[in-house]
Amino acid sequence: MSNKTFTLPDDLYDYLLSVSLREDELLRQLRRETATDAMSRMQVAPEQGQLLALLAQLMGARRALEVGVYTGYSSLCVARALPGDGRLVACDISESWTAVAQRYWRQAGVAERIDLRIAPALETLDSLLQSDEAGRFDFAFIDADKENYLVYYERALALLRPGGLIAIDNTLWSGSVIDPSCQDAETRAIRAFNRALHTDDRVHLSLLPVADGVTLALKRA
Ligand code: SAM
Ligand code: CA
Repeated sequence: MSNKTFTLPDDLYDYLLSVSLREDELLRQLRRETATDAMSRMQVAPEQGQLLALLAQLMGARRALEVGVYTGYSSLCVARALPGDGRLVACDISESWTAVAQRYWRQAGVAERIDLRIAPALETLDSLLQSDEAGRFDFAFIDADKENYLVYYERALALLRPGGLIAIDNTLWSGSVIDPSCQDAETRAIRAFNRALHTDDRVHLSLLPVADGVTLALKRA
């Protein structure tokens, strides 16, 4: 798993960042702190965090969902793009990684907007559906265990309003999706996910070669 936009040569990627990245000191600090963690490659790329914020703004999102928080970079980007009374339901199973996230959410003044649920994401999504939250979310970002992408997508689609947007990360999986020798469970799950979305008429679809591949699925109105 990589985080930077791997389809670009390094010098062109640096140029892209130099003319478009608007990362502030707090996000930079979060990236620096996360870089000390052995799993830091899981963090979204900074230009991708900025894209997620822009998408949330574009959607006029008030209610958002995130599956896979880690140390909080993407959730911080999305939460900041919500209005003051907006709400982000953030799902993860790790107390320790999300403790870092919570520290940054507080420093950014967005902790009140974020409802962190520490539990397997499927349980959280099902409990939202059972609490009559279906059709009430504007935006979702899926970035957790790849084997469950299709079930997260189905739950997120039910939770979104018509016209709502789901962004799904790592759908190019560093190119492994086209390498027949890669037959591990994660790669197979991503291939199956991509195939399923290709013919899913419930959404408008685009796979962006940004970062490690970001699929956008817009729920038909
Ligand atoms: N979006 C994050 C960011 O910007 O830094 C990166 C998320 S990281 C790729 C994946 C996260 O999914 C990890 O924090 C992991 O603990 C979480 N995760 C893995 N399995 C999960 C599950 N079954 N339910 C909820 N979260 C899970
Ligand atoms: Ca990811």
